[in-house]
Amino acid sequence: MATIRLEIVSPDSSVYDADIAMLIVRSTGGELGILPHHAPLVTGLIPHAMRIKLPDTEEETLIAVSGGFMEVTPEKITVIASTAEVPDSIDVNRAKEAYERAKERIAAFHQNGDTDKDFDMKRAELALARAKARLMATRTVFD
Ligand code: ATP
Repeated sequence: MATIRLEIVSPDSSVYDADIAMLIVRSTGGELGILPHHAPLVTGLIPHAMRIKLPDTEEETLIAVSGGFMEVTPEKITVIASTAEVPDSIDVNRAKEAYERAKERIAAFHQNGDTDKDFDMKRAELALARAKARLMATRTVFD
């Protein structure tokens, strides 16, 4: 089976380095599926759980990223993420707390009809998206 190398690095460490069958990501331009021999590409990533399809198995590995960049060449995908975590390294309770905190903040902004707090609102929305990415990567149910 054809494979493509995937390397994911965060400012702290190398998070993932392996030959994979396919990577599905949410880029700033929408969802992308990257197969071996993909055309060269550079794009931004938004917070989400990346899906890695491994060769010769139906298995899918999830990795939470909170944004960054992806560079694709026909042989290699490089993801430079602000933060990236494999499910085993995710503290689910911490992510649930961050999720609840962000939801409460967003609800409060809506209730107050605050229009001059756009910056704080954006921050809360991004915190919510990061928490959702971590909950999705750990297959945690949330509403
Ligand atoms: P919190 O409000 O819980 O700090 P956050 O989304 O603001 O969450 P980040 O700024 O994205 O956190 O990340 C800061 C550091 O903490 C990064 O190194 C990231 O990998 C780590 N981190 C954040 N949340 C978790 C989590 N739930 N489990 C494991 N590591 C986490």
